[in-house]
Amino acid sequence: MEQPVVSDQGPARGLVLIVEDERAIADVQRLYLSRAGFGVHVETTGEAGLDRVRDLRPVAVVLDVGLPGIDGIEVCRRLRARNDWTPIIFVSARDEEVDLLLGLELGADDYLTKPFSPRELVTRIKTVLRRSTGPQYARILRVGAVTLDPEHRTISVDGSAVELTAKEFDVLAFLMASPGRVFSREQLLSSVWGQASYTGGRTVDVHIAQLRSKLGDRNPIRTLRGVGYSAVERP
Ligand code: CA
Repeated sequence: MEQPVVSDQGPARGLVLIVEDERAIADVQRLYLSRAGFGVHVETTGEAGLDRVRDLRPVAVVLDVGLPGIDGIEVCRRLRARNDWTPIIFVSARDEEVDLLLGLELGADDYLTKPFSPRELVTRIKTVLRRSTGPQYARILRVGAVTLDPEHRTISVDGSAVELTAKEFDVLAFLMASPGRVFSREQLLSSVWGQASYTGGRTVDVHIAQLRSKLGDRNPIRTLRGVGYSAVERP
């Protein structure tokens, strides 16, 4: 069995759950994440991973795509279906798989392809956590009818709660933190997704479209053709 859970949760950066069936890979990930100050718990099946996310409330999940039993994609689907938005970094065996994952719009936060350097994994996790818990928007943001609470990660439009994916929330928070300022797709990609992300401008457009549809006609996002996006008060 894995090492005891409780004693492994101590480190200051919080607990990362690794779901990986290849022991050698999990060991290296554990080593580097521990050194970086994270607590680490490893599970080798999707089912056990799902249970641990609920029991341990990790700050992030490093999720192998190819797992025995239910695969990483299904684990992610089930988490999101139960409205659990714990940041997920997918670890994939193939580049083509990453394209597939992106197309599925699973609400994952980042993707790594094997083989990757364990240092890169640590960097990605820090970036994901900075985005999801970052102190940069430590206040309630309001633009027009939309109110965004970065600490509790809640959104409301005219007082009614709206459910967003983790990435949709991050995009909206980034825009609302500087109302009226226009950001290019490239700026949004580097600030919200992180520069090393396997994503393109199209990903930004897709997330903006989803945000608009979820926020309805009171949505504050304005498109400046050929330039980018901004959050503005609507008349
Ligand atoms: Ca595997």
